[in-house]
Amino acid sequence: MSLTLTVDGDRWRTHLKEVAGEQPGLVPVAKGNGYGFGLARLARKAAWLGVDTMAVGTYDELPEVSSRFPGGLLVLTPWRPFGAALDVDDSLQTRLVHTVSRVEDLRALRERQPDARFVLELRTSMLRHGLTARDLREAADVLGPGHGGRRFRGIALHLPLASGSHLAEVHRLVDEVVGAGLAGSRTAIWVSHLTGDELARLRTSHADFEIRPRIGTQLWLGDRGALRVTATVLDVHAVERGDVFGYRGRSAPKSGHVVVVSGGTAHGIGLEAPTGDSSIKARAATIARGGLDAVGFVRSPFTIDGKQRLFAEPPHMQASMLFLPSGAHVPAVGDQVDVRVRYTATTFDRVVVT
Ligand SMILES: *Cc1c(COP(=O)(O)O)cnc(C)c1O
Repeated sequence: MSLTLTVDGDRWRTHLKEVAGEQPGLVPVAKGNGYGFGLARLARKAAWLGVDTMAVGTYDELPEVSSRFPGGLLVLTPWRPFGAALDVDDSLQTRLVHTVSRVEDLRALRERQPDARFVLELRTSMLRHGLTARDLREAADVLGPGHGGRRFRGIALHLPLASGSHLAEVHRLVDEVVGAGLAGSRTAIWVSHLTGDELARLRTSHADFEIRPRIGTQLWLGDRGALRVTATVLDVHAVERGDVFGYRGRSAPKSGHVVVVSGGTAHGIGLEAPTGDSSIKARAATIARGGLDAVGFVRSPFTIDGKQRLFAEPPHMQASMLFLPSGAHVPAVGDQVDVRVRYTATTFDRVVVT
C-alpha cells in the first residue's frame, strides 16, 4: 500500500558512527523532510551520536527536534527581526544558536535578547546570505572589545556544492575575520560542503580555530547501499492496443499491462526528464523505432523486471499507472518494486529501520 523507505539499521548506524568519528566537531543537519527519514528520527540519531549541537533549517522546525535532541540547536536560516524567529518558545532560548547575516540584525537581536547566542554568517561565493568584509568590521564595532563574550559562537560559511577546492575562499574569508579583529582563541568556523580532505587541511592550516562541519547529505544519505525505496503493486490490468485507460482516456499504443503502483505526486513522485540524447535526430530515431516515449509516455522512477518503466499517464496523487509492454515479466498484486527517488524531496508513507 505504501511507498516505503527501508533502512538497513546496522549498516546505516555504522556509517553514521564512521562519519562522526572522522569529523570531530560534527554538526548534523536535519531540515526539510529530514532527508527522507523525518526530522524526529534524525534528532534521535544526533542524540545517539553524542554530538553537542545539531542544526535545523528553520525556526519552524525546532519543535520537532527539541524534545528529542538535548543539546544546542543551530538555526541555519538567518535571524530576522520578524516572523518565526520571534515566536520561539522561551524554554528553548538558552539552547539556540542563531545565524546572523546582517549588521542591522545583530543590533536588533542584541537589543531584544542580550544573552542570545549567535554565529556570524559571511557572504561566500554562494551569494545567499552573509556579511561582507566591511559589514564584518562594523559587526566587530557593534560587539565591542569583548566580541560579545561567549554569546559570539563563531563564523558560519555556506559554500557552494561545486567541486574544486573551496580552501582558497575559506582562507580569504578567515583572513577577513582576523582583519576585523573577531578571531579569538579557538574561534569556531562552521562550514558546509568541504570534502574530508579539505576539512583535514583546514584543521592543519587553521589549528588555532575550531572547525565545525555542518553535514546533512553525506551523513544521512552517504551510504546509499543501506537504503532501499519500494512501492507496492496495487493492481495489474492486461490491455490490448487501443484499450482506453486513465484520467485522460488515453489508449494503449500496443498490447501489454497497465500496472498500478503506490507512490504519486503527494510523495514527491514526478515525471522524470527524458534522459540521454534529446536532439531532434535522436527523437526522430525513437519515433522511427516506434518507441513508447514517442507517443508521449514519460519515464517513471519505478523499476519493473529490471527496467525503469514509463508512466502510462502522469502520476496521480498517491498512485501511479505504468505501462508494461508485453514480453516483460508481469508483477503480481502485492509485489514490491524498486523506486529511484530524490530523498530530500520525497515523503515516504513508512520508514522501516531493520
Ligand atoms: C542544508 C545545509 C547544510 C547541509 O547541506 P548538505 O548538502 O545536506 O550536507 C549545511 N549548511 C547550510 C547552511 C545548509 O542550508
